[in-house]
Amino acid sequence: MTQSLQEIQKPLLQWYAAHARALPWRENTDPYRVWVSEIMLQQTRVDTVIGYFNRFMQALPDVQALSRCPQDTLYKLWEGLGYYSRVRNLQKAAQIVADQYGGHLPENYEALLKLPGIGAYTAGAIASIAFEQKHAAVDGNVLRILARITADPGDLNNPGLRRRYGQMLEAIYPARGQRGAFTQSLMELGATVCLPNGRPLCENCPVSAYCQAFLEDMTDAFPVKTPRRAKQEQAITVFLICCAGKIALMRRPEKGLLSGMWSFVHTQEALDAQSATRWLDRHGVHADQITPLPARRHIFTHVIWHMNGFAVAAPQIPDAFMAADEAALARCALPTAFAKYLPEALLALRS
Ligand code: SF4
Repeated sequence: MTQSLQEIQKPLLQWYAAHARALPWRENTDPYRVWVSEIMLQQTRVDTVIGYFNRFMQALPDVQALSRCPQDTLYKLWEGLGYYSRVRNLQKAAQIVADQYGGHLPENYEALLKLPGIGAYTAGAIASIAFEQKHAAVDGNVLRILARITADPGDLNNPGLRRRYGQMLEAIYPARGQRGAFTQSLMELGATVCLPNGRPLCENCPVSAYCQAFLEDMTDAFPVKTPRRAKQEQAITVFLICCAGKIALMRRPEKGLLSGMWSFVHTQEALDAQSATRWLDRHGVHADQITPLPARRHIFTHVIWHMNGFAVAAPQIPDAFMAADEAALARCALPTAFAKYLPEALLALRS
């Protein structure tokens, strides 16, 4: 298998040299830039990441700057990218790198793996792209490519598959000087040619001559993937509690979904107007007026929130909440789920 897989190395590198997209994080192989871009690109499209990456680099050009950045500023730079645990871990890791490695990411793969938020994929990407080491970066794109090239009947959700493909790739990595390009050529092929959902553009593929799925006219059959468990569904009631040009905000719990983020006041249950009034009374909000808001839905990786909401005019905002005016609200990085009620919040604030 390794012998035939070896055949893909040269055409892939040639194709990448000719077809690589010009992306800001490819301007150089500075480890910090490679690291930040790889974390941003998890769960997020390249087109979306470009603007965020450029703003982030301008505001926080190195590890030291990231390690010292106030959390609210950091969240603001990340606002809209979602999955905030990524940026929290990024900063935790930057603080370790600043304290223990003089502000330079360690070259050692095992040391990279010990940093918060850096798993096998990201460590492989940094080690190979920034430090020219023989470490593969196997993400969903690379899994798909290898499953098709080898016509592998194994289930893509099998956790052992990543390690096996990583070892297969590491056996065919090129000499120093081309390792970063090889890692990126696989990423690029998965992003632009060997597309998911039965839509690979095999006619443009530099390795079609070595691809078993293509040669057997079975690209639809690979990768093999058993369906994941259904997402968990949760009800959420959101309150836009306003008083004298201010709106009540609360912090999410320190653990779990959207941990530590500012949000509108909410509770994890479906409340109608009557039960909402009782909930508000119990939390010290004696509403003058309660107006129902349209239902909204937000889909996370493993959870779906079915949200309903109420605009609440109140004589005061209890101390348990933060009272934010419009400027303070704009400074908070509201998670996208809650930002779905932002138009109504601004309307209520201004009325
Ligand atoms: S030939 Fe088609 S299926 Fe095979 S690697 Fe290339 S794009 Fe993917």
